[in-house]
Formats: sequence, C-alpha cells, structure tokens
Amino acid sequence: MTRRDRLPLLAGILLTVVGVLAVVLVVNLDRLTAPRPVDSAAVREAITSENLMGHLAELQRTADENGGNRQAGEPGDAASVDHVEQQLRAAGDETRRESVLYQRVGASGTTDVATQNLFADLPGRSERTVVVGAHLDGVANGPGINDNGSGVAAVLETALQLAQADVQLDQTVRFAFWGGEEDGLHGSTQYVAGLDDAGRRNLTLYLNLDMVGSPNPTPHVYGGMGRPHRVERVLSEFLREQGVHPFTASFEGSDHQPFVAAGIPVGGLYTGASEGHTPADPCYHLACDRVDNIDPDMLDLMADALAHGVLTVAR
Ligand SMILES: [Zn+2]
Repeated sequence: MTRRDRLPLLAGILLTVVGVLAVVLVVNLDRLTAPRPVDSAAVREAITSENLMGHLAELQRTADENGGNRQAGEPGDAASVDHVEQQLRAAGDETRRESVLYQRVGASGTTDVATQNLFADLPGRSERTVVVGAHLDGVANGPGINDNGSGVAAVLETALQLAQADVQLDQTVRFAFWGGEEDGLHGSTQYVAGLDDAGRRNLTLYLNLDMVGSPNPTPHVYGGMGRPHRVERVLSEFLREQGVHPFTASFEGSDHQPFVAAGIPVGGLYTGASEGHTPADPCYHLACDRVDNIDPDMLDLMADALAHGVLTVAR
C-alpha cells in the first residue's frame, strides 16, 4: 500500500468515526428530550390482591361492628376514617383531617351529619399537585365494599407502597379520602371550594377511583369530561398492555364532578355499577356489597394502573 493509497483510507476511517459519533449523539439527544419510559414495576409488584383484600376485610369489619354500614356520620364511617388514618401513619405519612358538616335530607326529615375528609401528601420537588381520591363513606343499606371500599383500598395501597418506595417525584401527590359522597359529593365539593388561586393553579390533575372491584367487571377509563389530560392515554395504554381493552367512562355521579366544574383536568378508573342487563355489580348500594362482591384480580389490576398512572404523570 502506497502513501497515496493510505490517504483516502484514513479519510474514510475518519468519516466513519465522525458518522458513528453523530449517530450516538443523536440517539442520546433523543433519549434526553423524549419522555423517559417510567418503570412502575417494583411498586406494582408490591401492590398485591392480598394486601388490597386485607384493606377490604378491615372495612367489612368496621361495618359489621357498627350496624352493618359505613354511612357518613355514623360509627362505621368514623371507624373507617380511623383505620385508614392509622394505616397511613404506620407507613410514616403525616395525615390531615378536615371536618365536613352538612344536612342529610331523607324521608324522615333532615339529619345533621358530621364527617371527615382525610389527606396524606407524598411531597414532590415542586408545588404542582396531583390529587388522587376515593370516597370513604358508604350508603345506609350495606357495608359498601365495592362502593367504595375498592377505591379506598386502591388509593390507600398506592399511598402505602409509594411511601415505602424510594421515589422522588416532581409533583406532590395528595391522597384524599372523601366524606359524604353518597349524600351529594359534600367532601370533595368543600375541598374544591376551599382552594385558593395558587392551590387551584398548582392542581394539575384529579384522579378519581369509585367502584374498581366489580364482580362482573367492565373496566373503564375516565374520558370526555372537562379539560383533556394525557392520563387518559397513559391508563388506557397500560390496561391494553395488560390485555384489557377499557371502555370510556363519562358520568357525573362521583367526586371528580366538582373538579370538572372548577376547570381542573380529571381522570379515573371504574369497573361498572348496576347499569345493563348483566350488571357489573348486582349488589350496588345493597346489603350484599360485601367482601365476596369483589373481583380481586380486577381490583389488583386497577390499583396497578393507578400506581403506574401516578408515577407517569407526577414524575
Ligand atoms: Zn361510589
């Protein structure tokens, strides 16, 4: 090989090296700018149907020991708030209660109701906040295990596992257990009405869980309500990856409604109530809404979806 032959060869090698460097740079730039895929696997693995059903057994017990229900203002409701609060504190969370006072108008006249909202925060790096909520009260006629012990179990278990996991998220996650939903969304309405301008501006998303363990489940992701948010796509894609094709839920009858009315984006999960010929939950608002009125695998999947959704949008 003469020197004259070697020059183009050296140039070729140089060009190849420059080309490879350029490709490496572009790939890494892409990695920096594209949203990083979130790995929620460890948290999802820690959320088990055994843990979730354990929470439901405790809520069942609070009803059984207190006249068979967990209606707002009644002893079964107070015992439920105490139980969830104890669980959160045992995991090291600070909790905060807020009184919710209203009058229930029934066939036998009006009753003064005193109940609670309960909160626990997972502090983030910023002031921006995702609120994740489920109503803790039930109806007068039964223990309220699918409606809405299931949502409470999913939110509580997610809060407990995120408290244990070593995660630092960008947004603060506020876990909310609402009082007085069944009598007219009292707790969530009071919370939204009490937000100041900064609180409202920083609230990027409300995620609602109400009935997520229905025994003949029809999995739904909230959509088409108020301002759109990417959490709808995040939750839907997650469920499809798990082999479940969710319907879109758009309805007014739960705690997301005051957030929609205030212009705050909402999302959520739902597995069906009494609608249709073969109801998703034949025990909706009945005495038979007990621990055996739950599909544990569906409840586990919904709790996994919640954890994945929270980690994805709040990181
Ligand atoms: Zn409900």
